[in-house]
Amino acid sequence: MYLDMSSKQKDQRPNVFCLVPENERFLWTTARLFSRWNGSHATLAFSVLADVIARIPVQHQPAVAAPPQARDCIQELDLNNVSHAVPDRRQAEKAATLARVWVHGVRRMFWVSCNADPAWVLDVLRRAAPTLEELHIKNPREQHLLAVHAMRGLRRVALRCHDGALDAQPPALPALPRGGLKWLRVVGLPRATLVSLLQAHSASLDVLWLHVGTPGGGRWPVGCDDLDALLGQCGLRVSRVVLWRGHFASHFESDCPAQVSAVRRVLPAATVQCEKCDEVKWEKF
Ligand SMILES: [Zn+2]
Repeated sequence: MYLDMSSKQKDQRPNVFCLVPENERFLWTTARLFSRWNGSHATLAFSVLADVIARIPVQHQPAVAAPPQARDCIQELDLNNVSHAVPDRRQAEKAATLARVWVHGVRRMFWVSCNADPAWVLDVLRRAAPTLEELHIKNPREQHLLAVHAMRGLRRVALRCHDGALDAQPPALPALPRGGLKWLRVVGLPRATLVSLLQAHSASLDVLWLHVGTPGGGRWPVGCDDLDALLGQCGLRVSRVVLWRGHFASHFESDCPAQVSAVRRVLPAATVQCEKCDEVKWEKF
């Protein structure tokens, strides 16, 4: 890797020419040094490093060859503000975040919004994959979903789809040799995609919070006439299902008990509750 600063103004980023990273450990060490800098030098360094990182195939990232030490791993990362920025905004912060995730790994990320700068979020997800255990993600595109689906260490996910981006062509997620999700809260995922996700994690999933309305309430997921059939085809072994009626989901009290009973019949080992009727306490992600 080398930098060409010859044709650049003082305050502009240099061009980065990245040869095949033959010595990834050297690059990783360099990135660790960058991560300790502050101020404008750090901004420039992170910006350059982000270019370099983007050119390294995911399978070559150092977390595979040299997993971040547990003590170094970022425990929690809130991307609420930066992930809402469109591609030409907050570039330095995005570069710094990507570099830090790449160098240290991260255990938990929340408020990861995919629709404003999908390419950057996808890069962050891919670099976080080796260490990520908990993820709160909003408005994913298919590529984001596939990246999340491939994360072997993920145990806890809150997934919200509010913008309908997946509705036209709902992706079917592939089967997994061993799904690992334990806890899932899902809002607005298309039916077919939801079924494939639940099937992939059927053996491990313990708790499911599902945003869904009652029969006759409207289109999925605002209403659902066949929730028992939908969940019955997923092979679930969950111990608990909460039917969450928030976010404009319908809730007809006359129809709710029959829906809950029907779900109990297909999941006899599970505690099945309606969030409203059973006054279920909200569980924070
Ligand atoms: Zn109810």
